Amino acid sequence: MERAPVTAYIGLGANLGDPARTLQLAIQALQRVAGLSLLRTSSLYKSTPHQAEGPDFINAVACLSSSLDPIELLSALQAIEQAFGRERPYPNSPRTLDLDLLLYGSARIDSSRLQIPHPRMLERAFVLAPLAQIAPELVDAGQLQAVAGQKVTLLETPAQPG
Ligand code: AMP
Repeated sequence: MERAPVTAYIGLGANLGDPARTLQLAIQALQRVAGLSLLRTSSLYKSTPHQAEGPDFINAVACLSSSLDPIELLSALQAIEQAFGRERPYPNSPRTLDLDLLLYGSARIDSSRLQIPHPRMLERAFVLAPLAQIAPELVDAGQLQAVAGQKVTLLETPAQPG
């Protein structure tokens, strides 16, 4: 029996190469995965590294309808990361592309491979600002206030080239 689709939110980030272009291509790659359809994407944002190193990051959040289960979706995200040549020479090293599964419907998962909601999403302005843009009902003012000290700038570059 076909699984009923679930609304999931993905955090995208990159800080090597041409990160805005990488995010545009990653969003296109998400649209090509069987079992996923793209519902909304936030604008692109620029953020200074937080819990990470290297140049400024470009970030965005995408909202998907997923017929994949959470682990299948995580595997699809990791395959896209690999396709973009991500290497992890050491923890929090600069990355070509990082895809985080932030939310999967109302699921709460705490396994060794996957935690949902993403355990650090509430600490990160570069997640909460784009998430609040496309799903304001999921982020409250207090959560945004808690990360207000982190610099995140809205960019005019489109997340999906026209
Ligand atoms: P990172 O290097 O920060 O992208 O972390 C990747 C690792 O986090 C992988 O081993 C994943 O299995 C694990 N992980 C746990 N929960 C999540 C999640 N919600 N989204 C993405 N990766 C996750």
